[in-house]
Amino acid sequence: MKNQTKESYDELERRRRARERRQRQKRKQKRKRLLYIGTGILGLAVVLAGILWIMSLLFARNYVDLKGIEMPEWVEEDFLDPNPYSRPATEMKRVNEIVIHYVANPGTTAKQNMNYFNSLQDQTGIKKISASSHFIIGLEGEVLQGIPIYEMAYSTSKEKNVDTVSIECCHPDETGKFNDATYDSLVKLTAWLCKNLGLTEKDVIRHYDATGKDCPRYFVAHEDAWKKFLSDVKAARKQPDEAIR
Ligand SMILES: [Zn+2]
Repeated sequence: MKNQTKESYDELERRRRARERRQRQKRKQKRKRLLYIGTGILGLAVVLAGILWIMSLLFARNYVDLKGIEMPEWVEEDFLDPNPYSRPATEMKRVNEIVIHYVANPGTTAKQNMNYFNSLQDQTGIKKISASSHFIIGLEGEVLQGIPIYEMAYSTSKEKNVDTVSIECCHPDETGKFNDATYDSLVKLTAWLCKNLGLTEKDVIRHYDATGKDCPRYFVAHEDAWKKFLSDVKAARKQPDEAIR
């Protein structure tokens, strides 16, 4: 009887210890789980913070206050009247590319082309034309600005118009080749815009690159002349500010 009591006591003791061991293990597992979850959350937070930080850096670097940009003296303001066909007065928040065009009307002046854009507001026909450009460079190298750079122009394509600035160039004949005065002003204006919009010549495209249109004709027909133009823009962009001011 005495032995039996001792045995059952030992058995009870054994079970109690086993229970305690199990409980200890459970607590240990719980602590481990909490540690894993905590580490996971912390890791995720670090990754998220990193992504936010990189995004803020990218945004800050590319952010340009378009309304704060003051155009140089050699750009003559000749703004179109706000109207649905050439100056819709749609605000642009950023400019990602500069698009080069030719007017496709040999011998015409910058002023004539600007007047044409402005006259579009008086259209009466059923099929209405929408067309315009931020800048037109004339045969004497004069630069007219028809639309502020923080407003959209109807120049390239529906997709491209929303975040690009356009430059139209006059030309003496059908080949579309620009004369030296027009070319020099185009290099200067494009370089100035690159500098002030936080862009480079890599962000300068032909109308042709966006839509396949034969515009600007000479630069579409002569890839080497286009490459030369881009390298001239690069050289001008790297000059001190005073040089293209
Ligand atoms: Zn064009």
